[in-house]
Amino acid sequence: MSVNTALLRKIPKIDEILKQPSIEAADCSHSILMESIRETLDSLRQNILGGNDSVSLEMDDICAQVMELVTQKNTMHLRPVINATGIILHTNLGRAKLSDRAVDAITSIAQDYNNLEYNLEKGARGSRYDHVDKLICKITGAEAAMAVNNNAAAVMLILSTMAKGHEVVVSRGELVEIGGAFRVPDIMAQSGGTLVEVGTTNKTHYSDYVNAITEETGALLKVHTSNFKIMGFFEEVTLEEMVEIGHSRNLPVIYDMGSGSLVRLENYGIQDEPNVLDLMKTGVDILSFSGDKLLGGPQAGIIIGKKEWIDKMKKNPLTRAFRIDKFTLAALEATLRDYLDPDVALKSIPTLQMMTATLDDLKPKGQKLYDLLSSEPEGYTVELTEDFGQIGGGSVPTQMIPSVVIALKTTKISLDKLEEELRKVSLPIIARISKERMLFDVRTIDERHFEYINETLRKLCK
Ligand SMILES: *Cc1c(COP(=O)(O)O)cnc(C)c1O
Repeated sequence: MSVNTALLRKIPKIDEILKQPSIEAADCSHSILMESIRETLDSLRQNILGGNDSVSLEMDDICAQVMELVTQKNTMHLRPVINATGIILHTNLGRAKLSDRAVDAITSIAQDYNNLEYNLEKGARGSRYDHVDKLICKITGAEAAMAVNNNAAAVMLILSTMAKGHEVVVSRGELVEIGGAFRVPDIMAQSGGTLVEVGTTNKTHYSDYVNAITEETGALLKVHTSNFKIMGFFEEVTLEEMVEIGHSRNLPVIYDMGSGSLVRLENYGIQDEPNVLDLMKTGVDILSFSGDKLLGGPQAGIIIGKKEWIDKMKKNPLTRAFRIDKFTLAALEATLRDYLDPDVALKSIPTLQMMTATLDDLKPKGQKLYDLLSSEPEGYTVELTEDFGQIGGGSVPTQMIPSVVIALKTTKISLDKLEEELRKVSLPIIARISKERMLFDVRTIDERHFEYINETLRKLCK
């Protein structure tokens, strides 16, 4: 194979490219521009050396390639996407969307200095744990509270404080792995507690706990098996019963509830998800849950319960490693304030809004997107129909929630390719394929993105 040296010689020089109007107008740093030009020219050279004689050396084509690279390099790696999956708490898509108030709170704290660890009344050092603990107690009825980085950290801190050097009794049916390799046995080992497993995968009895208690026992732990459900022969000991067993033997009872819901979801057709307010009434010593699951706030781990334990946790050195940051605190406080009136929370917190939206609520929303897409469609057809979404985030595993979807079919591009292209646009659209249709679940799509979705689909299906 002979190299086409004539073609190689025709590759323009960097200086020539720099003089092109589109390049001169590029809104980016000189280093990004130079890097993009070099990479473009390199790839042309490699192409020609590889025997490809049909590469275009048109200046306009080269400049377009350069600008595409510039755009790529100027794009933030972490960026917003449109969630058209219908999964409300999608762990891969950042879990809970924040309320406007929570977003405003982050912005205002980020732009100025703040009283994160400063007591404004005393003019002296304050504690970052003072900003939300009273609010959490007021909403949940707990004696004391604290918030850390996430719920995995919360569980670790709890066990390290309450069970280090002791045995902790847990049901085998609750030794679950939760998203991103959170495994109870591993957390237990790291915290310095010794796991004592009781019962079997599908059945654990009252007497299993009683028989496992020894001089060495430090606590009883219950874990909400939030991301799976055993059907059929299943028996577990309720939190109430565990509290009865523990307290009659002077042992604290801990419950990692995973998704902490502060509103009663059964009123909205969502079953089996434990509610923080009800669980507090059992007398459980310590309860923990995530900030960005059913609560609908920022990533955080919330610990509530007996003051004597929470005070000890605040003094545990791990707390420094797990400490909550100022942006999270701002968003968490703003989110929690909405819960002071549950009706306000249901209206203003996006996760709750989406979770409680009924088919009747969603139909007009679906109609709007359908009207946009179905007006003079070219290269595709759309149908307004129903399908199922999920809550996600390891919450309510078995429940599919009926939802309103747009189902798109096209002959211009394969659905796999379309799915890929939708991920590559400036504001990526994450959709799913089902029964040879591309589905867009309107429950999780913000109406302000409808026009963008319309434009993007028309472009891609041309
Ligand atoms: C999700 C979950 C965790 C981990 O919570 P993060 O906030 O993601 O760290 C721990 N335990 C249970 C039961 C969970 O569902």
